[in-house]
Amino acid sequence: MTDSLPPAIAIRNLTKVYKGGKRALDGINLSIPRGQIYGLLGPNGAGKSTTINILAGMVNKTEGSVSIWGFDIDVNPRNAKNSIGIVPQEIVFDPFFTPFETLENQAGFYGVPKDKRRSMELLRAVHLEDKANAYARTLSGGMKRRLLVAKAMVHSPPILVLDEPTAGVDVQLRQQLWEYVRELNALGVTIVLTTHYLEEAEQLCDRIGIINHGKVITDKPTRELLAMAQEKVVQVTVDRDVTLVPDAPCFEKIELTGERTLTITYLKDRANAGQVLSAVQASGLAIVDVVTRDPDLEDVFLNLTAAA
Ligand code: ADP
Ligand code: MG
Repeated sequence: MTDSLPPAIAIRNLTKVYKGGKRALDGINLSIPRGQIYGLLGPNGAGKSTTINILAGMVNKTEGSVSIWGFDIDVNPRNAKNSIGIVPQEIVFDPFFTPFETLENQAGFYGVPKDKRRSMELLRAVHLEDKANAYARTLSGGMKRRLLVAKAMVHSPPILVLDEPTAGVDVQLRQQLWEYVRELNALGVTIVLTTHYLEEAEQLCDRIGIINHGKVITDKPTRELLAMAQEKVVQVTVDRDVTLVPDAPCFEKIELTGERTLTITYLKDRANAGQVLSAVQASGLAIVDVVTRDPDLEDVFLNLTAAA
């Protein structure tokens, strides 16, 4: 990707105050790079859907500016809209159309000429080929979600946004959905998704933004974010049954998790694994095995949102 191109999405000082006075977004700034899978995380009510609905043109912002693929949503609303496909959190459908008709209607709405439409191809991609002519109301929740993904892609936008795509979707379908998202990304589509599943974000996303109470808490490459987790865990197996659990200043927490296994938590800015292991040996125990656990996003998330 060349640096001269504008980001896929640029959000500057974005504020939303709903009627009634709820300040859902309080001056957020985000720059979502082209070609990435970007995860927008945050607890319930953080402002994720508000952000996405502003991108979709479904909610009017109060202040700030938003550019999509270089197009300002106020100055070039049509180009901005054509550059993005959105799968909203709420499933809304006209129940009287078949999946095939739903996609054809959407293509018509975007002015995609008949010979450029790829409704069947899209249905195949989301594993709904055999439901092409079924009524939408006969589809399961997971199928509807996948149909919405196909619907968001009819005009072949360079950006696909999915708001909580795996809420209420079973594990197998979730895997299929992520597989498709990865395929699209490999073809060059920039992906933005919100999710509560940190593990998923960790596995899928190149970059993660966390918002809470309408403010951006962090926006970093996933790897950097993981490196920020302070707590590290080492599991130590020793050569004999432990009768007295050792203690040392470098242990944040120590637990006997087996007759010969100690699980020790330490803070990586105050100690390192070497010190922790030396402290165990200094108590007279010999170490026969060591397992370390990498911090996950859950740790980072809890630390960051607690601090905000
Ligand atoms: P998230 O998607 O992160 O769970 P939302 O963007 O849906 O959060 O909501 C952010 C805040 O704005 C919440 O406090 C929510 O109750 C409020 N909110 C969302 N939609 C509306 C609305 N249409 N009118 C008033 N308040 C709203
Ligand atoms: Mg939401």
